[in-house]
Amino acid sequence: MKDKKIIRRILNVVLCAVFLLSAGSASVTAASDNDDTLTVGVPIDRCPIFYIDDRTDEISGIGVDLLNAAAEKAGYSLSFTALGEKTIKDALDNQDYDLIMPFGSPINSISGNRSIVSDSLLQSPFTLVTTGDRTLPPLGYLHVGMLKSLMGVAESVNQLYPHMQIDLYETMADSVKALRKGKVDGLLHNSYVWSYVLQKPSYKDLSMQPSAVFSMDFRAGTLDTPKGQEIIKRLNGGIASLDDMQRQTIILDHTSRKLYRYDLSDYLYQFGLLILAVGLLIAALVLFAIQRIRALKRLHEEKMQQMMDQDSLTGLLSMNGFRKRVEELLHKYPDTPYFLSYNNIRNFKYINDSLGRDAGNELLKFWAEKSKKNLSLDEETICRIDADHFAVLRHITSDEKTNEDLQNVFEPVENYFIDRGKDYRVQISSGIYVLTPADFRKIDVDHMLDLARVAEKRVRESRTEDHIFYNPEQWEKGKRIAEIINYLPAAIKSGDIQVYYQPQVNYSEDKIIGAEALCRWDHSKLGWLYPFDFISTLEEAGLIFDLDCFVWERVCQDLDRWNKQGQHRSVSVNVSRNDIRDNQDLATHFYELIRKYDLAPDQLHIEITETAYVENHDILINVTEKLRAMGFLVEMDDFGSGYSSLHMLKEVPMDRIKMDLNFLTSSGDIDKCHTIISCMIQMVHLLDMDLIAEGVETKEQADFLKEKGCSEMQGYYFYKPMPVDEFEKLLKK
Ligand code: C2E
Ligand code: MG
Ligand code: MG
Repeated sequence: MKDKKIIRRILNVVLCAVFLLSAGSASVTAASDNDDTLTVGVPIDRCPIFYIDDRTDEISGIGVDLLNAAAEKAGYSLSFTALGEKTIKDALDNQDYDLIMPFGSPINSISGNRSIVSDSLLQSPFTLVTTGDRTLPPLGYLHVGMLKSLMGVAESVNQLYPHMQIDLYETMADSVKALRKGKVDGLLHNSYVWSYVLQKPSYKDLSMQPSAVFSMDFRAGTLDTPKGQEIIKRLNGGIASLDDMQRQTIILDHTSRKLYRYDLSDYLYQFGLLILAVGLLIAALVLFAIQRIRALKRLHEEKMQQMMDQDSLTGLLSMNGFRKRVEELLHKYPDTPYFLSYNNIRNFKYINDSLGRDAGNELLKFWAEKSKKNLSLDEETICRIDADHFAVLRHITSDEKTNEDLQNVFEPVENYFIDRGKDYRVQISSGIYVLTPADFRKIDVDHMLDLARVAEKRVRESRTEDHIFYNPEQWEKGKRIAEIINYLPAAIKSGDIQVYYQPQVNYSEDKIIGAEALCRWDHSKLGWLYPFDFISTLEEAGLIFDLDCFVWERVCQDLDRWNKQGQHRSVSVNVSRNDIRDNQDLATHFYELIRKYDLAPDQLHIEITETAYVENHDILINVTEKLRAMGFLVEMDDFGSGYSSLHMLKEVPMDRIKMDLNFLTSSGDIDKCHTIISCMIQMVHLLDMDLIAEGVETKEQADFLKEKGCSEMQGYYFYKPMPVDEFEKLLKK
């Protein structure tokens, strides 16, 4: 109550001062064409005070009706227009308006002109809005937010509460944001406007503070000019004749209407979760539909592909599918000997014509069935190219297997009609192409098939043969490789592979100092094989480790036996460069082996061929270091035979160099050879490594080496590699 009285008193004082001052001032006033028609500028975002009526699209509101009622009594007709300016202070300088609303008290325009205001049309209630149940400082000490467009009112409030801090905001949303962030204690606005604004769903955390209500005058104003004074004077007459009943009716009319309309953000706020859920559901449905369409498309493509890759009559692959499958298999088994055959039924046209197409078809299906059963389809494949032409990719195996093919496939097909009581023998002609290593590197199925077809043509021309090889020498090679690869496991088990020992001597002291273990294979079909015949094949087939493990173990067993006989010997074993590349834990393998047989590590000398140093440099250094740390002696085999580099000697740690005389003396100037050998001997000694010469074949060589300071030797001059029992006898002598 006390606050209200103070407001009124101050506002009255301000009003009088403005009136007196304005009496003497001369300024430009707004002018209308018709003196009785006034243009009134009002804000339109103050529902229900000022707003645009949805039905009429005209400016409506409590303010409009009140001013219209007063103006009518004063003999004016009013035309309302929306204020284009941000604040009343700005609008005052715009001469298009005869009147501006709302004013609480007179204020100066932005350019400093004074204004004059009408009597109050209404005591408009102002309320504070806050969030939650905050305890607030007393009204006069609040920090509040107001709209910038209410700058005039803000000034009046400040006059009333000098300690109140007022922040002005561009929009209602900005002010609410500031309130929520705690930048202000509350927001101050017209109560009627609040009751409209707070219907917004997202403002439901805001509440009016009934304890902080005060009223402000609600007036019209204009610049303080003679014309302005005239308008205000006449208008005041009209205001004076308004009664309370009229005012209440107007207020009730606008506050009881359902004016609040939801905008998009309201719907989003209120139905956000629902909208999100529906959105997600739709998105999921769309995704599901896309996936389904893709899956169907893929299925369709796969079916099409399958149709393209398959022969509908026999169920075998078509030429298209065969090409792909062959590529796949050759990539997967690059070291397997394969052949590709092109098979054809002679006089198939005759079969069709005389025995009927169905009989011809049945024969083709029978052939397909028999072939499929005979093949191992994981590694081999077959297709019907067209008509009566079949192509087969098959492993090369033994002659027995080839005979099996004849028995299981070719003979039943050839006897197909005879077995069914018809006097006709089917004749098959086959052309065979044997794959070479180049075919694995550049796979060209059509080319290989062309070559098989060339061989098949020769069969047809010969009239006596039923199959011809395009490249018979390759067939022999392939068969040999197959016989080595396929026989290895059985040979290891059966003892066909044996370990021979070639003694190593100290020529100066005339005694045997050790031996090198070298393998020999007594092949059941191919006869005696030397490492040269099978080592590289096994390396290519990835089987060398199997052989080496067998040799190393057999050597350890012999060393163990000799240990138990009280003879502590040492043996050099060979390690393939592939063992190093593929088994990086080689050192551990050796370590477990000597533990198993209770050997001292220095009884095993590990020979690593020189080429391995070039190919797997880093791995090799690592393995060598590990082996030496475990106590094994590491030797570089075949030094001088390959890319012997001084860099290698410096980089790789090892105990003994094995100098290969064969390579050094096989060709070239003998004097130069002597020079190289004597320099090498000197260099190896200077590098503080041991040296043994291998391939020593003559007394001259042995004497020369001894003279130059290399006494350890191995070679035919002393001993050839021999079976273990011979070696043992030799040692006993
Ligand atoms: P290498 O390790 O350099 O073995 C020495 C080869 O030279 C042996 O051939 C041996 O019989 C032969 N030889 C010895 N003294 C003379 C000689 O005075 N004159 C001539 N011309 N040759 C001599 P072999 O046994 O045929 O072995 C050949 C190669 O096969 C070996 O060369 C070695 O690299 C490899 N090898 C042998 N056994 C194995 C094994 O068990 N595993 C692995 N990975 N490789 C082996
Ligand atoms: Mg060796
Ligand atoms: Mg050697």
